[in-house]
Amino acid sequence: MASNLEFVRFPAPDGVNGWWESLPPAASANSVASEQRFDWVVVGGGITGLCTARRLAELAPDAAIALVEADRIGRTTAGRNSGFFVDLPHDISSESYSRSVEADKADVRLQRHGIDYVRSAVKQHGIDCDWRDEGKFHASVNRKGHTALAHFADGLARIDESFEWLDEAAIAKVTGTDFYEGALFTPGCSTVQPAALMRGLAASLPENVKVFEMSAVKGIEDQGVNKVLSFAGGKLVAKRVILCTNAYAATFGGHPNGLLPVYTFASMTRVMTPDEARRLGGTRSWSLIPADPMGSTIRRLITDRICVRNHFAFRPSLEVSQADLAKAKSLHRRSFDRRFPMLKDVTLEYTWGGPLCLSVNNGALFGRRDDGVFEAVGCNGLGLSRGSASGKLIAEYALGQDNELIRQLLNQPHPRSLPVRPIADVAVTAAIWMKEFSAGAEL
Ligand SMILES: Cc1cc2nc3c(=O)[nH]c(=O)nc-3n(C[C@H](O)[C@H](O)[C@H](O)COP(=O)(O)OP(=O)(O)OC[C@H]3O[C@@H](n4cnc5c(N)ncnc54)[C@H](O)[C@@H]3O)c2cc1C
Repeated sequence: MASNLEFVRFPAPDGVNGWWESLPPAASANSVASEQRFDWVVVGGGITGLCTARRLAELAPDAAIALVEADRIGRTTAGRNSGFFVDLPHDISSESYSRSVEADKADVRLQRHGIDYVRSAVKQHGIDCDWRDEGKFHASVNRKGHTALAHFADGLARIDESFEWLDEAAIAKVTGTDFYEGALFTPGCSTVQPAALMRGLAASLPENVKVFEMSAVKGIEDQGVNKVLSFAGGKLVAKRVILCTNAYAATFGGHPNGLLPVYTFASMTRVMTPDEARRLGGTRSWSLIPADPMGSTIRRLITDRICVRNHFAFRPSLEVSQADLAKAKSLHRRSFDRRFPMLKDVTLEYTWGGPLCLSVNNGALFGRRDDGVFEAVGCNGLGLSRGSASGKLIAEYALGQDNELIRQLLNQPHPRSLPVRPIADVAVTAAIWMKEFSAGAEL
């Protein structure tokens, strides 16, 4: 017997998303304002929900499908990240991103599947999102970072993935700063303007998908064959529902302290003047990940802005405070100044946060949750490539398909529960603090 679901936390503004703000204004949102019937409702307009809705529509062109999003598509987490579609192992809870050979190979297979799916949609529909297949740099600032990169390189060699070492001068030539002591280049990563991608994916969905934004599901009532989703302005009645709400799933039913809403934060500079860009030097566009997963991710954008991401905070309330944002901005400023002393006058125009959905054992939820209700939840910090894959594959699974990747996701561990709160809160916060402290110079 299926059960009813009540949603208790909804997306909050959490700062100002610079990716969204630098796009042209969005068309007005179409919200749920009456009672309508669909074969499928996909809840959550992040990358996972967008890929789920697309794949359902491709495989079931006669089905009526709704995609519902509480905010604007592109303004929430999937449109407020650093834009890395990472193909290689990227376990942010590990010291060097790698796991075992078998787990790493499985991750790469899955992530490339997701990247290929989204890349083909971008190409097919000409989505203007600065999609770049230009790889990423993993850079270190000291011997400790170099050792972590060497472990990562060993892990890549064990799974036959290619990489290239850059010395201090070579990475300075790319970035314009002499802050880094060396780097490892991996060619398979793609990068995007994430808000533009999400908006473009929504706008190019097949015709049998109807998109509702500014429409938060308040609850799902199980009426046997039908599921009734309630909203402030109306109802949707569906035969089947797929939940793609990532961190927000932590607050409705059945995952006691297993899904951990951990926020991370980013800032974006104003556009540099031509003189400032000349002072910086380096190449026009590059994307860099720190040797220590708790360090600073930096991108120089083709628009002559720089984006800095660092700092984590466990926020089970799914909301950050002004103090959280102020702290993040001051950490970003410090990280920016250490790397780019020649750009002291370049202000950080936007600062924002967004919730990741982590678990202590890298577990995630994929499959049938209840009669007629499916879920693909738990990005573990790598939602762009993993969310693309799990969104596509949950649609295939829900339509009765079977393949090796679906089985891989069905067999992944479930998020391991932590002790009851507030013990869990203290443990997670302390673990983040210790890891950030240990990242030290990489911040
Ligand atoms: C600053 C930052 C940098 C990051 N950098 C990267 C990166 O470079 N690469 C990468 O892979 N990942 C990155 N991430 C993580 C990445 O953004 C997430 O993994 C990804 O967004 C997960 O996608 P998703 O679709 O599963 O979930 P989400 O993007 O969280 O989407 C879930 C959606 O569900 C909606 N929703 C929730 N509740 C309801 C409701 N009741 N009704 C209707 N809708 C609802 C939410 O509004 C949201 O839009 C970063 C995250 C942040 C915050």
